[in-house]
Amino acid sequence: MSLLAAAAAVSIAPIASGQERTEFEQQAREIYRNVVEVRSARGHENVPKIVDYVVGELKAAGFSDDDIEVTDYDNDGEATQGLVVWYRSPDPQDKPIALLAHMDVVDALAEDWVREPYTLIEEEGYFFGRGTADNKYGVTSLVATFIRLKEEGFEPTRDLVMVLSGDEETGMVSTRAQANWVAEEVDPAFVLNADAGGLSLGPDGEPLDYGVQGAEKTYATFELTVTNPGGHSSAPRADNAIYELADALKKIEAYKFPVRYNDLTLASIEAAGRKRLDQLGNAQRAFAADPTDEDAIEVLRANPATVGQIGTTCIATMLRAGHAENALPQSATATVNCRIFPGVGIEATEATLKDVVANEDVQFKLISDLVESPESGMRDDVLAAVQTALEARGVTDVEIIPHMSAGGTDGMHYRNLGYDTYGVGGAAAKQNDTFAHGLNERLLVSSFYDGLDHFYVILKELAGPQEG
Ligand SMILES: [Zn+2]
Repeated sequence: MSLLAAAAAVSIAPIASGQERTEFEQQAREIYRNVVEVRSARGHENVPKIVDYVVGELKAAGFSDDDIEVTDYDNDGEATQGLVVWYRSPDPQDKPIALLAHMDVVDALAEDWVREPYTLIEEEGYFFGRGTADNKYGVTSLVATFIRLKEEGFEPTRDLVMVLSGDEETGMVSTRAQANWVAEEVDPAFVLNADAGGLSLGPDGEPLDYGVQGAEKTYATFELTVTNPGGHSSAPRADNAIYELADALKKIEAYKFPVRYNDLTLASIEAAGRKRLDQLGNAQRAFAADPTDEDAIEVLRANPATVGQIGTTCIATMLRAGHAENALPQSATATVNCRIFPGVGIEATEATLKDVVANEDVQFKLISDLVESPESGMRDDVLAAVQTALEARGVTDVEIIPHMSAGGTDGMHYRNLGYDTYGVGGAAAKQNDTFAHGLNERLLVSSFYDGLDHFYVILKELAGPQEG
């Protein structure tokens, strides 16, 4: 089904471009403009401006001081804030739902962009601007939905707690603290993240499938260092820091981490395979049917797009060594970045690397500080709510596919604490629309409006009075 057909199927509003938008759509667009136009990147300390603005809008809609909590955080010397908003149930029947998005962005430099990065520009069927996709659409969706539900007098059957972080793209200081706070004060049944998942579109805008992020790989970076007394290069010693480090790296290069899989990765690999008839597709389908199939494993390992889906990967990314062209190196250091399969763990991965290197002279140092996160088992109620939200926007014939992403969203901190977390964003994007963190970030205008009901429907499904 084309997006135009999808839009036509939605009866609540004239959505075709050029037509009048509903009051809610205009209000959401205004929220979007206001949050995109704040340069909330590290180095600018502007997150509090977004918090102020959003709090003002929420209060105007009827949220009280008791419902709103603003917290200051120090992200490595830089002030940022987090915002928590309670949408309370008069008579909770169930544990709460926590909802996540982040207010900060990766910085963008105006001179590198075709258009002003911190002005919301509508052009060629797109909204352009830093954060239009990652993650100010998520912020807008959640805030606009809370306001809309409040103004309608919606009474949820369980508490809904919106948690907006202020440094997801850098230190995750706010994320970490908020996740701990949510565990203690909210103890939700599960967590929905607006910063992951979404509808993928084909080149002509036709919906292909909807991805639910249910797991993230664990990000871990090690430095491997070899030191040596050194000396003059005219009188070489038998041992050499650079050669020793190079040996270690060649061993890591040759090593293949064991194949790993879980229900979620098998389902997503199978679904990806069904869409293609080439060698890769055959291998994906074969692997999903039998994860010990050596031929399939070989094909998936050889492809950069799939190698990370079937196990842990560790790869050398940076190198520094020596101090003069005529001196023996006193030290050599390599950076090795690992993407660890859920359930394996950072310590076990370090132990494996040490076994592989088998040289006590190589010192290992973990230089990243991200947490491990297990995969979240899929919930029928969440999947059904997403399905209903898709149908409400006229998307009836796409598959909902759980997936594991490379890692790096707020969700991992909640999974780390034992809360099932699902990336279920409302945006739709074509393959080549993904400019998050990059230049000329954009979001389809049609996707912006089509996705505005997404969380509205999901929350009514999961926290609304059950009919019949
Ligand atoms: Zn993000």
